[in-house]
Amino acid sequence: QAKKRGKSCCQFFTTEINTAATEQLALKNLLRRALARKEFQLYYQPIINMESGAIVSVEALIRWVDPELGLISPNTFIPLAEENGLILPLGEWVLQTACTQAKIWNQSNPYPVRIAINLSARQLEQTDFSERVSEILKKTPFPTDHLELELTESMLINRMESSLKTLNTLKKMGCRLSLDDFGTGYSPLAYLKRFPIDTVKIDRSFVQGISIDPDDAAITTAVTTMAHSLKRAVIAKGVETREQLNFLNEIKVDEAQGYFISYPVPAEELTQKLREKSHLLS
Ligand code: C2E
Ligand code: MG
Ligand code: MG
Repeated sequence: QAKKRGKSCCQFFTTEINTAATEQLALKNLLRRALARKEFQLYYQPIINMESGAIVSVEALIRWVDPELGLISPNTFIPLAEENGLILPLGEWVLQTACTQAKIWNQSNPYPVRIAINLSARQLEQTDFSERVSEILKKTPFPTDHLELELTESMLINRMESSLKTLNTLKKMGCRLSLDDFGTGYSPLAYLKRFPIDTVKIDRSFVQGISIDPDDAAITTAVTTMAHSLKRAVIAKGVETREQLNFLNEIKVDEAQGYFISYPVPAEELTQKLREKSHLLS
Protein backbone atom coordinates (compact mmCIF):
# COMPACT_ATOMS: atom_id res chain seq x y z
CA GLN A 1 0.00 0.00 0.00
CA ALA A 2 2.73 2.38 1.08
CA LYS A 3 4.80 1.42 -1.94
CA LYS A 4 1.89 2.03 -4.19
CA ARG A 5 1.20 5.36 -2.60
CA GLY A 6 4.85 6.28 -2.86
CA LYS A 7 4.85 5.50 -6.53
CA SER A 8 1.75 7.41 -7.37
CA CYS A 9 3.13 10.24 -5.30
CA CYS A 10 6.26 10.34 -7.44
CA GLN A 11 4.26 10.08 -10.60
CA PHE A 12 2.21 12.96 -9.42
CA PHE A 13 5.29 15.12 -9.00
CA THR A 14 6.77 14.11 -12.35
CA THR A 15 3.54 14.93 -14.08
CA GLU A 16 3.37 18.24 -12.33
CA ILE A 17 6.92 19.14 -13.27
CA ASN A 18 6.28 18.09 -16.86
CA THR A 19 3.18 20.18 -16.99
CA ALA A 20 5.04 23.18 -15.69
CA ALA A 21 7.84 22.67 -18.21
CA THR A 22 5.42 22.09 -21.07
CA GLU A 23 3.44 25.12 -20.07
CA GLN A 24 6.57 27.23 -20.03
CA LEU A 25 7.60 25.96 -23.43
CA ALA A 26 4.15 26.61 -24.81
CA LEU A 27 4.17 30.10 -23.33
CA LYS A 28 7.58 30.80 -24.83
CA ASN A 29 6.27 29.85 -28.26
CA LEU A 30 3.15 31.93 -27.74
CA LEU A 31 5.36 34.87 -26.80
CA ARG A 32 7.05 34.87 -30.19
CA ARG A 33 3.74 34.83 -31.93
CA ALA A 34 2.41 37.53 -29.63
CA LEU A 35 5.16 39.92 -30.63
CA ALA A 36 4.40 39.37 -34.31
CA ARG A 37 0.67 39.74 -33.69
CA LYS A 38 1.11 42.83 -31.56
CA GLU A 39 -0.66 41.38 -28.55
CA PHE A 40 1.40 43.48 -26.16
CA GLN A 41 0.20 46.72 -24.77
CA LEU A 42 1.64 49.31 -22.45
CA TYR A 43 -0.21 50.54 -19.41
CA TYR A 44 0.95 53.68 -17.69
CA GLN A 45 0.99 54.44 -13.97
CA PRO A 46 1.35 58.07 -12.88
CA ILE A 47 3.89 59.20 -10.30
CA ILE A 48 3.05 62.41 -8.46
CA ASN A 49 5.20 65.10 -6.93
CA MET A 50 4.51 65.21 -3.19
CA GLU A 51 4.50 69.01 -2.96
CA SER A 52 2.30 69.92 -5.92
CA GLY A 53 0.33 66.71 -6.38
CA ALA A 54 0.99 67.00 -10.11
CA ILE A 55 1.88 64.03 -12.28
CA VAL A 56 5.60 64.41 -12.97
CA SER A 57 6.43 60.97 -14.26
CA VAL A 58 4.75 57.92 -15.75
CA GLU A 59 5.93 54.32 -15.49
CA ALA A 60 5.33 52.12 -18.51
CA LEU A 61 4.15 48.62 -17.54
CA ILE A 62 3.79 45.95 -20.16
CA ARG A 63 0.64 43.84 -20.56
CA TRP A 64 0.10 40.75 -22.63
CA VAL A 65 -3.39 39.72 -23.59
CA ASP A 66 -3.44 36.34 -25.29
CA PRO A 67 -6.69 35.71 -27.22
CA GLU A 68 -7.24 32.39 -25.38
CA LEU A 69 -5.32 32.68 -22.13
CA GLY A 70 -6.38 36.23 -21.38
CA LEU A 71 -4.22 38.63 -19.41
CA ILE A 72 -0.79 37.27 -18.51
CA SER A 73 1.25 39.06 -15.84
CA PRO A 74 4.69 40.44 -16.71
CA ASN A 75 5.95 38.63 -13.61
CA THR A 76 5.16 35.42 -15.51
CA PHE A 77 6.26 36.21 -19.03
CA ILE A 78 9.19 38.61 -18.60
CA PRO A 79 11.39 35.85 -17.10
CA LEU A 80 10.44 33.56 -20.03
CA ALA A 81 11.18 36.31 -22.54
CA GLU A 82 14.54 36.72 -20.84
CA GLU A 83 15.26 33.01 -21.27
CA ASN A 84 14.39 32.80 -24.94
CA GLY A 85 15.95 36.13 -25.84
CA LEU A 86 12.67 37.70 -26.88
CA ILE A 87 13.20 40.34 -24.21
CA LEU A 88 15.52 42.17 -26.62
CA PRO A 89 13.00 42.93 -29.38
CA LEU A 90 10.28 43.27 -26.74
CA GLY A 91 12.37 45.72 -24.71
CA GLU A 92 13.03 47.82 -27.81
CA TRP A 93 9.34 47.85 -28.57
CA VAL A 94 8.65 49.08 -25.02
CA LEU A 95 11.25 51.85 -25.28
CA GLN A 96 10.05 52.98 -28.69
CA THR A 97 6.36 52.86 -27.83
CA ALA A 98 6.69 54.56 -24.44
CA CYS A 99 8.92 57.36 -25.77
CA THR A 100 6.56 57.99 -28.68
CA GLN A 101 3.62 58.16 -26.27
CA ALA A 102 5.44 60.44 -23.82
CA LYS A 103 6.36 62.74 -26.65
CA ILE A 104 2.70 63.10 -27.59
CA TRP A 105 1.79 63.85 -23.96
CA ASN A 106 4.50 66.45 -23.66
CA GLN A 107 3.43 68.21 -26.84
CA SER A 108 0.00 68.98 -25.43
CA ASN A 109 0.90 69.17 -21.75
CA PRO A 110 2.45 72.40 -20.44
CA TYR A 111 4.13 70.44 -17.63
CA PRO A 112 6.28 67.78 -19.24
CA VAL A 113 6.32 64.32 -17.70
CA ARG A 114 9.18 61.87 -17.51
CA ILE A 115 8.70 58.38 -18.83
CA ALA A 116 10.04 55.55 -16.65
CA ILE A 117 10.93 52.25 -18.28
CA ASN A 118 11.86 48.96 -16.65
CA LEU A 119 14.95 47.38 -18.09
CA SER A 120 15.97 43.75 -18.02
CA ALA A 121 19.50 42.48 -17.36
CA ARG A 122 19.68 41.05 -20.87
CA GLN A 123 19.11 44.48 -22.38
CA LEU A 124 21.77 46.13 -20.27
CA GLU A 125 24.23 43.36 -21.15
CA GLN A 126 24.14 44.28 -24.83
CA THR A 127 27.38 46.09 -25.49
CA ASP A 128 25.61 48.52 -27.79
CA PHE A 129 22.64 49.19 -25.49
CA SER A 130 23.36 52.91 -25.06
CA GLU A 131 23.62 53.31 -28.85
CA ARG A 132 20.28 51.56 -29.23
CA VAL A 133 18.69 53.96 -26.78
CA SER A 134 20.26 56.86 -28.59
CA GLU A 135 18.89 55.58 -31.94
CA ILE A 136 15.40 55.37 -30.51
CA LEU A 137 15.67 58.87 -29.08
CA LYS A 138 16.84 60.16 -32.44
CA LYS A 139 13.89 58.56 -34.18
CA THR A 140 11.40 59.87 -31.65
CA PRO A 141 13.08 62.81 -30.85
CA PHE A 142 12.56 62.95 -27.15
CA PRO A 143 14.63 64.85 -24.58
CA THR A 144 16.95 62.40 -22.84
CA ASP A 145 16.48 63.97 -19.43
CA HIS A 146 12.81 62.96 -19.60
CA LEU A 147 13.74 59.32 -19.97
CA GLU A 148 14.16 57.44 -16.73
CA LEU A 149 15.55 53.91 -16.85
CA GLU A 150 14.67 51.62 -13.97
CA LEU A 151 17.25 49.11 -12.79
CA THR A 152 17.33 46.61 -9.96
CA GLU A 153 20.21 45.43 -7.85
CA SER A 154 19.83 41.88 -9.15
CA MET A 155 20.39 42.95 -12.74
CA LEU A 156 23.62 44.69 -11.79
CA ILE A 157 25.13 41.78 -9.86
CA ASN A 158 26.79 40.22 -12.91
CA ARG A 159 29.01 42.04 -15.35
CA MET A 160 29.42 45.02 -13.07
CA GLU A 161 32.18 46.57 -15.15
CA SER A 162 30.37 46.51 -18.48
CA SER A 163 27.09 47.59 -16.86
CA LEU A 164 28.86 50.48 -15.20
CA LYS A 165 30.30 51.54 -18.52
CA THR A 166 26.90 51.42 -20.23
CA LEU A 167 25.21 53.27 -17.38
CA ASN A 168 27.87 55.96 -17.37
CA THR A 169 27.30 56.47 -21.09
CA LEU A 170 23.52 56.67 -20.63
CA LYS A 171 24.08 59.13 -17.80
CA LYS A 172 26.31 61.28 -20.02
CA MET A 173 23.59 61.23 -22.68
CA GLY A 174 21.34 62.78 -20.04
CA CYS A 175 19.16 59.80 -19.10
CA ARG A 176 18.03 59.47 -15.51
CA LEU A 177 18.64 56.20 -13.73
CA SER A 178 16.63 54.84 -10.86
CA LEU A 179 17.13 51.88 -8.58
CA ASP A 180 13.85 49.97 -8.32
CA ASP A 181 12.72 47.69 -5.46
CA PHE A 182 15.09 49.62 -3.21
CA GLY A 183 15.75 47.92 0.12
CA THR A 184 15.02 44.37 -1.00
CA GLY A 185 18.53 43.47 -2.22
CA TYR A 186 21.67 42.62 -0.32
CA SER A 187 23.77 45.75 -0.49
CA PRO A 188 21.77 48.75 -1.67
CA LEU A 189 24.37 51.21 -0.42
CA ALA A 190 27.16 49.60 -2.40
CA TYR A 191 25.08 49.99 -5.57
CA LEU A 192 24.28 53.60 -4.81
CA LYS A 193 27.95 54.31 -4.34
CA ARG A 194 29.06 52.45 -7.42
CA PHE A 195 26.49 53.32 -10.06
CA PRO A 196 25.33 56.75 -11.26
CA ILE A 197 21.85 56.44 -9.74
CA ASP A 198 19.61 59.56 -9.52
CA THR A 199 16.60 58.12 -7.79
CA VAL A 200 15.69 55.28 -5.46
CA LYS A 201 12.27 53.68 -5.53
CA ILE A 202 11.42 52.40 -2.07
CA ASP A 203 9.90 48.98 -2.34
CA ARG A 204 6.20 48.46 -1.82
CA SER A 205 6.85 45.93 0.95
CA PHE A 206 8.05 48.75 3.26
CA VAL A 207 5.48 51.32 2.21
CA GLN A 208 2.62 48.92 2.81
CA GLY A 209 3.68 48.31 6.39
CA ILE A 210 4.07 51.99 7.28
CA SER A 211 0.88 52.30 9.34
CA ILE A 212 0.99 48.86 10.94
CA ASP A 213 4.62 47.98 11.50
CA PRO A 214 6.87 50.52 13.26
CA ASP A 215 9.89 48.83 11.68
CA ASP A 216 8.60 49.56 8.18
CA ALA A 217 7.92 53.17 9.12
CA ALA A 218 11.45 53.44 10.54
CA ILE A 219 13.05 51.81 7.50
CA THR A 220 11.15 54.05 5.09
CA THR A 221 12.19 57.13 7.07
CA ALA A 222 15.81 56.04 7.32
CA VAL A 223 16.07 55.18 3.62
CA THR A 224 14.59 58.55 2.68
CA THR A 225 16.94 60.50 4.95
CA MET A 226 19.92 58.54 3.72
CA ALA A 227 19.04 58.89 0.04
CA HIS A 228 18.55 62.62 0.51
CA SER A 229 21.89 63.07 2.20
CA LEU A 230 23.43 61.28 -0.78
CA LYS A 231 21.56 63.75 -3.05
CA ARG A 232 19.30 61.12 -4.51
CA ALA A 233 15.59 61.61 -5.05
CA VAL A 234 13.10 59.23 -3.44
CA ILE A 235 10.00 57.70 -4.97
CA ALA A 236 7.71 55.62 -2.76
CA LYS A 237 6.01 52.69 -4.50
CA GLY A 238 2.81 50.86 -3.70
CA VAL A 239 0.95 53.67 -1.91
CA GLU A 240 -2.50 52.27 -1.25
CA THR A 241 -3.94 54.49 1.49
CA ARG A 242 -4.28 58.15 2.44
CA GLU A 243 -2.51 57.36 5.71
CA GLN A 244 0.56 56.07 3.86
CA LEU A 245 0.55 59.10 1.58
CA ASN A 246 0.38 61.47 4.56
CA PHE A 247 3.24 59.71 6.31
CA LEU A 248 5.38 59.84 3.15
CA ASN A 249 4.59 63.52 2.82
CA GLU A 250 5.73 64.17 6.40
CA ILE A 251 9.05 62.44 5.91
CA LYS A 252 9.58 64.46 2.71
CA VAL A 253 9.55 61.71 0.14
CA ASP A 254 9.78 63.45 -3.26
CA GLU A 255 7.35 61.45 -5.35
CA ALA A 256 4.77 58.70 -4.92
CA GLN A 257 3.14 55.97 -6.97
CA GLY A 258 0.46 53.45 -6.11
CA TYR A 259 -3.14 52.32 -6.39
CA PHE A 260 -4.30 55.10 -4.03
CA ILE A 261 -3.11 57.62 -6.61
CA SER A 262 -3.95 55.60 -9.70
CA TYR A 263 -3.85 52.09 -11.09
CA PRO A 264 -1.79 51.59 -14.22
CA VAL A 265 -4.11 52.64 -17.06
CA PRO A 266 -4.15 52.59 -20.87
CA ALA A 267 -2.64 55.62 -22.63
CA GLU A 268 -5.96 57.35 -23.37
CA GLU A 269 -6.92 57.29 -19.71
CA LEU A 270 -3.62 58.78 -18.71
CA THR A 271 -4.11 61.55 -21.27
CA GLN A 272 -7.32 62.34 -19.40
CA LYS A 273 -5.58 62.32 -16.01
CA LEU A 274 -2.90 64.68 -17.27
CA ARG A 275 -5.61 67.20 -18.12
CA GLU A 276 -6.88 67.23 -14.55
CA LYS A 277 -4.62 69.54 -12.65
CA SER A 278 -3.74 68.17 -9.28
CA HIS A 279 -3.93 64.77 -7.82
CA LEU A 280 -5.08 63.85 -4.36
CA LEU A 281 -2.95 66.09 -2.21
CA SER A 282 -4.35 68.68 0.24
P1 C2E B 1 7.83 46.97 -10.90
O1 C2E B 1 8.74 47.69 -11.80
O2 C2E B 1 8.18 46.88 -9.46
O3 C2E B 1 6.39 47.66 -11.10
C1 C2E B 1 5.46 47.90 -10.09
C2 C2E B 1 4.41 46.81 -10.03
O4 C2E B 1 3.57 47.04 -8.89
C3 C2E B 1 3.48 46.80 -11.23
O5 C2E B 1 3.08 45.45 -11.44
C4 C2E B 1 2.30 47.65 -10.76
O6 C2E B 1 1.11 47.37 -11.43
C5 C2E B 1 2.23 47.22 -9.30
N1 C2E B 1 1.66 48.26 -8.44
C6 C2E B 1 1.65 49.60 -8.62
N2 C2E B 1 1.06 50.23 -7.57
C7 C2E B 1 0.71 49.27 -6.70
C8 C2E B 1 0.04 49.28 -5.42
O7 C2E B 1 -0.32 50.31 -4.87
N3 C2E B 1 -0.15 48.05 -4.83
C9 C2E B 1 0.24 46.88 -5.41
N4 C2E B 1 -0.02 45.75 -4.76
N5 C2E B 1 0.86 46.84 -6.60
C10 C2E B 1 1.09 48.01 -7.24
P2 C2E B 1 3.04 44.81 -12.90
O8 C2E B 1 2.54 45.83 -13.88
O9 C2E B 1 2.33 43.51 -12.80
O10 C2E B 1 4.57 44.56 -13.24
C11 C2E B 1 5.32 43.63 -12.51
C12 C2E B 1 6.79 43.73 -12.83
O11 C2E B 1 7.05 43.32 -14.16
C13 C2E B 1 7.35 45.15 -12.73
O12 C2E B 1 7.60 45.45 -11.37
C14 C2E B 1 8.61 45.01 -13.57
O13 C2E B 1 9.64 44.45 -12.80
C15 C2E B 1 8.18 44.03 -14.63
N6 C2E B 1 7.83 44.77 -15.87
C16 C2E B 1 6.70 45.42 -16.20
N7 C2E B 1 6.78 45.99 -17.42
C17 C2E B 1 8.04 45.71 -17.88
C18 C2E B 1 8.76 46.04 -19.10
O14 C2E B 1 8.27 46.75 -20.00
N8 C2E B 1 10.03 45.54 -19.19
C19 C2E B 1 10.62 44.78 -18.20
N9 C2E B 1 11.87 44.35 -18.38
N10 C2E B 1 9.97 44.49 -17.06
C20 C2E B 1 8.71 44.93 -16.89
MG1 MG C 1 9.57 49.57 -11.98
MG1 MG D 1 9.31 44.85 -8.87
